Amino acid sequence: MRIARAVRSDAEGEEGRALFERIGAFLVDQRLAPTPTNYAFVHRLFTEPDDTLARAVELITERGVRITPRDIQTLTEDHAPEGAQQSPAELKAQTEGLVARTQMQVEGFADMVTAMRAETADFGRDLVASAEAISTGDDAPQAVDDVVRITAAMLDRIRVAEDKLESATREASELREKLEEARDNARRDPLTQLPNRRAFEEAFAAQEAVGGQMCIAVCDIDHFKSVNDRFGHAVGDRVLRVIADALSQCCRGHLVTRYGGEEFAILFTNVPLDKARAVLEHARGTVQTKRYKLRDNDAPLGEITFSAGLTPVEAGEMHQTAFHRADRLLYLAKNEGRNQVKTGSASYSDFCR
Ligand code: GH3
Ligand code: MG
Ligand code: MG
Repeated sequence: MRIARAVRSDAEGEEGRALFERIGAFLVDQRLAPTPTNYAFVHRLFTEPDDTLARAVELITERGVRITPRDIQTLTEDHAPEGAQQSPAELKAQTEGLVARTQMQVEGFADMVTAMRAETADFGRDLVASAEAISTGDDAPQAVDDVVRITAAMLDRIRVAEDKLESATREASELREKLEEARDNARRDPLTQLPNRRAFEEAFAAQEAVGGQMCIAVCDIDHFKSVNDRFGHAVGDRVLRVIADALSQCCRGHLVTRYGGEEFAILFTNVPLDKARAVLEHARGTVQTKRYKLRDNDAPLGEITFSAGLTPVEAGEMHQTAFHRADRLLYLAKNEGRNQVKTGSASYSDFCR
């Protein structure tokens, strides 16, 4: 038993030394300082070689390019291990926690008000009794003393209540801020900082309630998988951010959302279809003419384009119906060669330009 343990620990020791040497060699080779951050990063590369992080680093370094401390920072952020970023379940738990705290605070307020009312009622009763004693002359000096004592006690209680109220108000406004933050996080995509699908659906419902013209566009990056395959997921993520910014700027005044993956949905409000189309065409041209480069060596990524389906929303039409039509138009745009916008309406959905 003892021998077995000794053998295992020898083997483990050797493995550990080998790993240590590999990490050291990598750091020297990449001219990276042996800081704890760099060491931990390289340790992860060698201990989780099938991880997307390792693959992203492989793609960068296989062209003879060295990774920089800046890469390490972005790659670490982009490839945070599962659970490091808040999952929807965690977000829900956090929101529920905040709701529970708010509820407790409201209940605390209610208890405080009830206690204060009971106390004022007691004080009121005592004061009435003393006032009667003063007016009837029954032991008036004692009654005056009582009034002084009751008033002093009341003032004391008021001071305590004021302090409690002040700290409760402070906590309430802190909670309100946290709730707003949680509400905002649930509607924003962490990668691009754009509103997400949920925000899109809520905006659609809100706009529908007030009436007014709406058009929906679904945009999908062309051959995006190949960007990831050729340059790595981290580069793909950066491209997503650049396109998100370009769409937001070109479609200013309208709601640009990251609907999922490499798909963006735009809600155009109070503009006719032709105007929405012109805006979208401008965005398409802008994305196409951008020069995308690798950070390290300025090597070009090549042209990046998107295809889109655009449709007006009919009065009273459900979000899903209009969205589905935009999606079919997108499919058509892909089939007809990509890098184009297809439009069509419900009344004549086969008519597409
Ligand atoms: P198509 O022109 O037909 O749309 O081709 P495509 O390659 O864009 O479409 P496909 O559906 O085959 O691949 C989409 C790719 O988008 C695959 C997926 O890994 C990638 N993707 C989705 N979300 C993200 C993300 O958040 N980051 C990165 N880097 N890639 C993503
Ligand atoms: Mg897609
Ligand atoms: Mg795509």
